Amino acid sequence: MGIKIIKGGTIVTAAETFQAEILIDGETISAIGNDFEALYPDAEVIDAAERFIFPGGVDPHVHLDLPMPGTVSSDDHYTGTKAAAFGGTTTVIDFANHDAPSLVDSLLTIKRKADAMVSVDYSLHQNYTRYNEETLAEIPALLEHGVPTIKMFTAYNGRLRTEDEGILRALRMTKRYGMTALVHAENGDVIERLIAEAKAAGNFAPIYHARTRPDWSATEATFRVCSLSELAGNAPVYIVHMNAGEESEVLKYAQSKGVPVWGETCPQYLIFTDAALEKADGAKWVFSPPLRKAKDNEGLWRGIQEGTIQTVATDHCPFMFDGTKTIEYEGRPFSRPGKELGKDDFTKIPNGLPGVGERLIALWKYGVQSGKLTMNQFVAVTSTNAAKIFGMAPRKGTIRPGSDADLVLWDPKKTFRYSVAASKSRTDYSYLDGVEITGAPDKVLLRGEVIVDGERWNGRRGGGKFIFRKPRV
Ligand SMILES: [Zn+2]
Repeated sequence: MGIKIIKGGTIVTAAETFQAEILIDGETISAIGNDFEALYPDAEVIDAAERFIFPGGVDPHVHLDLPMPGTVSSDDHYTGTKAAAFGGTTTVIDFANHDAPSLVDSLLTIKRKADAMVSVDYSLHQNYTRYNEETLAEIPALLEHGVPTIKMFTAYNGRLRTEDEGILRALRMTKRYGMTALVHAENGDVIERLIAEAKAAGNFAPIYHARTRPDWSATEATFRVCSLSELAGNAPVYIVHMNAGEESEVLKYAQSKGVPVWGETCPQYLIFTDAALEKADGAKWVFSPPLRKAKDNEGLWRGIQEGTIQTVATDHCPFMFDGTKTIEYEGRPFSRPGKELGKDDFTKIPNGLPGVGERLIALWKYGVQSGKLTMNQFVAVTSTNAAKIFGMAPRKGTIRPGSDADLVLWDPKKTFRYSVAASKSRTDYSYLDGVEITGAPDKVLLRGEVIVDGERWNGRRGGGKFIFRKPRV
């Protein structure tokens, strides 16, 4: 790979919007300026006229090849990262289940599998779901493997949940070593009780997924986790997939008291409501936490606008809507059990929604084009803030000399009707199916290589790299 010049485009970062050329030497940006062609007459020139140039998207919350009861999520580390690339995302962070007793063994099992498959750059968060003295002492060893983040759950009693005592002690540990804890915040006890009551009353329809996981169960848990952060000596905490408007208010309150808590939401919580679960295809919309009400959409948008919520991730975790049918992916047939597993019982519907490819396109349409976000805010929440919070900045998340040449050439006039086929995700539906889109990636570069060129896919299995992330100093 030699020298490339991207010419004629408008560079958009989280802080600025300006016209300039980008000089790429190999995998990194070497300069930003003008008239590079005179200096490098042999360089490959990429025309970016009428394009915005964003730093490649960073999606800090995806699930690839995730086992669930009776099935496995339908995107693996190749198909999911291909979908990411077509949507303008060049770095994803997946989660390693805490399957082995040892955290490091759990991490390395997933890493070995992912390394050979990913087509964009990636990292892993380590789930921490087996609290005991041994696993607690092992948390700092993750740093030697470039993983400064663990994830805990306040819900899923008896499976994934860590009790408050374990969360407190894990947070003391992450605080001491400059690490960050991600927390899934819902009240496990309330949810288990409501699910038992719904079943006893014969309520098995998809809407009961939302009714048994109420908004204040999330709000209460978010407040509790903020409190545990303070009680652990102000341990940095990142609340994943915020879904209730009140959660954003709680987070803002904790931040105002100096508690180091960040918030993430996802496009689905900004755009849709739980009315979707009452439609004939309600199972498509079953994921956790659930969709809520219009007031929650508004509260979350406000949270982003005010800077209370820093990132918009996806929680990408696709399942086939009808897994009894076969689809084609890259010319090969594919079928796998999906949402139909729960056709008679909402608790048996695999939880999750495709979205890694939709994220930027959805946020452009519903955020930038609707006047809710500036382009700079769009870049901040889709790329820059996640790179900073998760120890990848300035290598990822911005456009400046020395950064990886991960770039999205965005065509604001590209108009088409979205479909699951456009998403490149290996599943049979998209939350944007049939939606008219204006504005989408035209070219996507990963470390200087054009991996998406219009409809053409130049990316490859194993072409992505594991990004060694640093603790905060
Ligand atoms: Zn998730």
